[in-house]
Amino acid sequence: MREPIPTVTLPSGILVPALGQGTWNMGENAASARDEIASLKTGLDLGMTLIDTAEMYADGGSEEIVGKAIEGRRDEVFLVSKVYPANASRKGAVEACERSLRRLNTDRIDLYLLHWRGNYPLEETVEAFEGLKAAGKIEAWGVSNFDVDDMDELLSVPNGGNVAANQVLYNLSRRGIEYDLLPWCQERSIPVMAYSPIEQGRLLHHPELIRVAKTYQATPAQIALAFLLERDGVISIPKSSNAQRIEENRDSIDVDITDEDWAVLDAAFPPPSRKKSLDML
Ligand code: NDP
Repeated sequence: MREPIPTVTLPSGILVPALGQGTWNMGENAASARDEIASLKTGLDLGMTLIDTAEMYADGGSEEIVGKAIEGRRDEVFLVSKVYPANASRKGAVEACERSLRRLNTDRIDLYLLHWRGNYPLEETVEAFEGLKAAGKIEAWGVSNFDVDDMDELLSVPNGGNVAANQVLYNLSRRGIEYDLLPWCQERSIPVMAYSPIEQGRLLHHPELIRVAKTYQATPAQIALAFLLERDGVISIPKSSNAQRIEENRDSIDVDITDEDWAVLDAAFPPPSRKKSLDML
């Protein structure tokens, strides 16, 4: 029996798993569709019920894969999608959301994010998001790739305080947000969604990570995910199109790292000692 996945509470009071599933690069190639759908379903079976997608991924192809994976089990899933900044106008966001809903084959998105800041005023995007909420097309909205100054600005616009999450690049090798953005969000109970939690696989070759992983009979990916699970209010969304790796990632929950080894990891991947502008992929 596996331990349940720890949860993070959204501002609405809804609990979501601290370990979900990403889907970037899914839907690009018909030959991989079967494995992508199967891996997402495996993740759902294992409690990784938060799925992150975006209209950008494979030009909607990722949303279509997600739509197939959640068919018949929509109520188990916490569905996150994102709007392109270029579509984030009063009218454009509504139309983009409707297209996403069609591809996802559902009537609602649980959390709809602005993918990154673009040229439309935040007020306008927030107004569109609030309208989508009132129409029942989305349950909540949030942002992605917002640094502290963007978040401050967001909170100053009407209804900007309704932001339900900020999705940013965060992993052992990208700890800049620990200096300011992470505590800023934690103080306000705004969850941080950590994207590229294993640095798209690049982190897995780090010698110190490999060494620590061996002492726990774990894999480097599991240690990288355990690092994020240790943080309050952080949801990580590793992507895998391989059901075995999904299980491996799920089992990061069971890795219990000692204080001594946290210190070893801090030495290998030092936390920030000064402000760094937000990293993006
Ligand atoms: P991840 O850090 O999740 O790494 C994904 C890569 O690692 C894939 O190549 C995957 O390959 C491989 N992988 C996954 N698990 C393992 C494992 N246990 N062992 C070895 N390799 C593994 O990178 P992503 O960039 O995909 O980030 C996760 C998600 O975050 C995205 O899919 C997307 O949903 C979101 N995202 C959001 C962004 C934003 O701007 N808001 C930007 C980037 C990502 P395989 O599939 O073959 O297993």
